[in-house]
Amino acid sequence: MTSRFLRREVCPLCGSKSQQLLCDLGFDEAPLAAFLEGFYGGRLAPAELAGGRYRIARCAECSFIFQDRILDTAGMQRLYQDWVDQAGSLQKKRSAPAQRFRQYAGQVTTLMRLFDKPPQQTRVLDYGMGWGYWCRMVQAHGFEVRGYELSALRRDHAQRLGVPVVDKLEQADGKFDFIYANQVFEHLPDPRQALQELCRCLPADGIVYLRVPDGRDVVRRLRRHGWSPGLDAIHPLEHINCFTRATLIQLAASVGLRPYQPPLRLEWGNLCGGIRREITDRWFTTHLMFRR
Ligand SMILES: [Zn+2]
Repeated sequence: MTSRFLRREVCPLCGSKSQQLLCDLGFDEAPLAAFLEGFYGGRLAPAELAGGRYRIARCAECSFIFQDRILDTAGMQRLYQDWVDQAGSLQKKRSAPAQRFRQYAGQVTTLMRLFDKPPQQTRVLDYGMGWGYWCRMVQAHGFEVRGYELSALRRDHAQRLGVPVVDKLEQADGKFDFIYANQVFEHLPDPRQALQELCRCLPADGIVYLRVPDGRDVVRRLRRHGWSPGLDAIHPLEHINCFTRATLIQLAASVGLRPYQPPLRLEWGNLCGGIRREITDRWFTTHLMFRR
């Protein structure tokens, strides 16, 4: 079965038609073919991408970097259901080091400082929750949490962990005080429309957290060395949107959201690490909170 590709003719952020092509490779060209073979194992037969091209474009208007050829809906379903290593992904979560859970707990500590009400009255949505482990941490701190996830396999797993699931966002107008979207927006064919939809689920003082891979080096590295497997921010087929801090802020601005700086989170036990984190989070990273 051969996958079909859709063209994104205009910039997904600003709608401009003017673009510069930074990379253009056939999926059957080495080293791309070798990378896909290794990454997706035997689950993706090369013939399935026959005739497809991996193209990285940069908008001449707003500098947003994106793949201008993406799988159609059926292809995306096959990608995330059949080609990605589901068992490996779950195993990674199951055997995550304690540091990962401490990171989640740190995020919940920040969450506890955002709203002037008890956790039981604070409604949280994990948009693209995956297997549900972050939700579980939030739940353990008393919050009212729901998870949204397209993959039935991951959704079912999260439900078995005791995470309540929301099926349709359109039924959730103004319902969530805090929306968490970790490593989601780089995957979405229309990130602007998705963020607009999330905005409808936020009350006036609601906050949304977006975390995406950092694409600040992508243009320089592509120009110097061409495409290489280490360029995770433009991972073929999957990371179809590549954000820098500036373009992430621009995406949010396009739906009326502004960056929001949460209260400082510093502890005596790890003051230096905390200061370093606060400085990078406030000025340099591609994970930010936003509100209206
Ligand atoms: Zn643009």
